[in-house]
Parts: sequence; structure tokens; C-alpha cells
Amino acid sequence: MASSNTVLMRLVASAYSVAQKAGMIVRRVIAEGDLGIVEKTCATDLQTKADRLVQMSICSSLARKFPKLTIIGEELVVWVDPLDGTKEYTEGLLDNVTVLIGIAYEGKAIAGIINQPYYNYEAGPDAVLGRTIWGVLGLGAFGFQLKEVPAGKHIITTTRSHSNKLVTDCVTAMNPDDVLRVGGAGNKIIQLIEGKASAYVFASPGCKKWDTCAPEVILHAVGGKLTDIHGNVLQYHKDVKHMNSAGVLATLRNYDYYASRVPESVKNALVP
Ligand code: AMP
Ligand code: MG
Ligand code: MG
Repeated sequence: MASSNTVLMRLVASAYSVAQKAGMIVRRVIAEGDLGIVEKTCATDLQTKADRLVQMSICSSLARKFPKLTIIGEELVVWVDPLDGTKEYTEGLLDNVTVLIGIAYEGKAIAGIINQPYYNYEAGPDAVLGRTIWGVLGLGAFGFQLKEVPAGKHIITTTRSHSNKLVTDCVTAMNPDDVLRVGGAGNKIIQLIEGKASAYVFASPGCKKWDTCAPEVILHAVGGKLTDIHGNVLQYHKDVKHMNSAGVLATLRNYDYYASRVPESVKNALVP
């Protein structure tokens, strides 16, 4: 156990610096101007040059430092989203974008790193761009100031570019005071821990394990909860299905308020 703890902390430290380097690549691709956009499955499922370069950079750095990761990988699995919020990246909504590195042990998400390359981008020319938020279960989460939405306010954050009737039915059933539609799973978890939103509600397939692994750890490390729309805990072992077929429900506080309001019709339509 002592040696696996050492590997974990080395891996977290490496992932932290690799995520910062990834953030620089994300900014460089925008600065150079050619995004190299490719449609993956449809017009709202995109990949850019930044997705490709960051993927290569993260995988090659971690593989160099942890050549046995695939062997350890029976137990320790790293889930990487090189660019979360690609659709928004291509539309200039730059603070929606994050780089996500999640680490799972025996199927449970236990450490996570989120780089937000354009944090501060509207704060003027002198502002330092970008930040890295990281967390380990049982240790805490760092790189931000924890804040809660005012008591009694129900502010829901949900998808901006992948909505459908199930998504809106579920949000409406929760009687929100306000609904924020923004890109990125990482970005929405940041909204929860910084007091901008009280629940992340996405009643649809579409979001993958690499979208939820790192954000889930950050949220859990500060006492929040992320599950599918039925309340099932997500699994992250290496053979798990990539798609979060039964959506995402996440809150910092008052999880039960939102979970109890998911309509039966929505639950019936989403098979885990
Ligand atoms: P969103 O909240 O729409 O930004 O989605 C969060 C993450 O899930 C992003 O990485 C999206 O690419 C992914 N995602 C959600 N819905 C879909 C979909 N219908 N097709 C492809 N990717 C999706
Ligand atoms: Mg993503
Ligand atoms: Mg992505």
C-alpha cells in the first residue's frame, strides 16, 4: 500500500504539470488561429488540433514517466479529456474549456486535475491566464476558493450545445430559480464549487467517463456528490463502458432535493 500511495502522489504531481503544459497548448492553438476542426459523429461532436495535440502530449508524458502504467492499469486507470468543451472552444467561449485528467483505483475515481486554460481571460491584458484545480479523495481539493450558492436558491447548470427534450424536462421538473447553459463537464463542476450553480443536471447520454472522472473527484473531495440520473455511483475500471448512458446529476449540497425531483419518465428513458 505504501508503494501504491507513492505512485499515486507521483502520478498526481506529474498530471498537475502535464495539465499546465496542456493549458499552454490550448492557448497556443487559438493564438495561431487555425483550429483544424473535424466533425467526429455530428456537427456538435467536434475535435480540434488542440484536442489532438493535448492528447498526444498528456499520453506521451505520462507514458514516459510511468512506463508500467498499463500494468498498474489493472488497478490504476487514468481518464484523460484533452479538451472538454470543444464546441465552445470553436465558438470563442474560452472559459468553458478545461483539460481533465482523472485517476481511478479499483474502479473508483480517487484523484483529479482540471486545468482551465482561459481562467481570467476577461480580466484585462495584465491578468495571468489559466489555473489548475486538483484534488485527492480524503485529502481535499485545491487551487480555488470554495463557495456555496445562497441557501434556498436552486440554480441549475446544464448543457449548452447538447440539449434535448429529456434534458429540458428534467431541468424544468426541478423548479429552478435560474438555469445556466454552459459548455463542458469540468466547467460545470467548477460552477458548483465556486457558488455559481447548485446542481449540474444532464438527463441524456453523451457525456463520457473521461468527462466525469476528474470533476467527480474534485466535487467529492469537498463533500459534494456526482452520480447518474438514477443515483448510481459511476465506475471507472478499465473495461467500463465509456458512455455515461444514464446522464449526470451532481451537487455540492442538497443532492436529495434534486434526486427526488427527477421525473419517472426521464428515469425510464435512461438505461445505465
Ligand atoms: P456539454 O455539457 O454539452 O458541454 O457536455 C459535456 C461533455 O459531454 C462534453 O465533453 C461533450 O462533448 C460531451 N457530450 C455531451 N453530450 C454529447 C453528445 N450528444 N454528443 C457528443 N458529446 C457529448
Ligand atoms: Mg469532454
Ligand atoms: Mg473532449
